[in-house]
Amino acid sequence: MYIDEDKPIPLYQFDKLKSFDNQIKHFITTRNQKHSQSICNYFTIGLNGAIGNDIVLDNRKQIAEQFGISPDSFVFASQVHGNGVFIVRDEDRGKGAFDRSSYLCDVDAMVTNRKGICIVTQAADCVPILFYDPITNAIGAAHAGWKGTVAKIPAKVIRSMVTEFGSNPKDLLVGIGPSIGSCCYEVGDEVVAMVAEAFGSGDGLILNNKKFNKPVFDLWEANRRTLVDVGVKSENIEIAGICTKCNNHLFFSARAGDKGRFGAAIMIK
Ligand SMILES: [Zn+2]
Repeated sequence: MYIDEDKPIPLYQFDKLKSFDNQIKHFITTRNQKHSQSICNYFTIGLNGAIGNDIVLDNRKQIAEQFGISPDSFVFASQVHGNGVFIVRDEDRGKGAFDRSSYLCDVDAMVTNRKGICIVTQAADCVPILFYDPITNAIGAAHAGWKGTVAKIPAKVIRSMVTEFGSNPKDLLVGIGPSIGSCCYEVGDEVVAMVAEAFGSGDGLILNNKKFNKPVFDLWEANRRTLVDVGVKSENIEIAGICTKCNNHLFFSARAGDKGRFGAAIMIK
């Protein structure tokens, strides 16, 4: 991953997507923001009551300014740990940008081929996943916690891109963002059973970790397998490999007790 730490808002980027900077813009925020004299470490973009909405909207405005876009370019979804994929059209521009009431409902992933619409996924341990098809110039963004991962939301995103935009999975570039790693993601029996059902077995996905009494779930590997199974080339998948709980100084982590949310976003220029 590439990190631009010199700007007021440090932004991460996937190396594989960054090479298409002429076609798309994308970024992952952290919990940090530099002021002239100090660092604010609660730079959340979620309108979920963690802090005042006015502060969140100002945070979003600052991101837009640094990113060189208008705040009404953003589109946010309600993210209900389902596997709903929404096809974002021009008329959806700005939905959820300024209030929760216009969030796209029952949606955990968005795809679009419209220019100038920045689709945003919010996360704090769940996996933000960004998709780009350089051939048809279409994009996607998904939010995958354990439920979305076992529901194989990345496969649903890709099927939508194939149907709507004529994408071929072998052309797609996919970035799996910072999220809770198998170093920290202890799970219960229900998750273990669902993983085994969804993936045929838990081999390589449900692991033992000496730190915990219960097993851990490797969300990154599970989503990588789903992507490869639907035809994405292994070499076109970039896994950030950054655990949000281990790196709680950089990213919000629900398991670490945070209510804040960081964002992963992508837009066609
Ligand atoms: Zn960790």
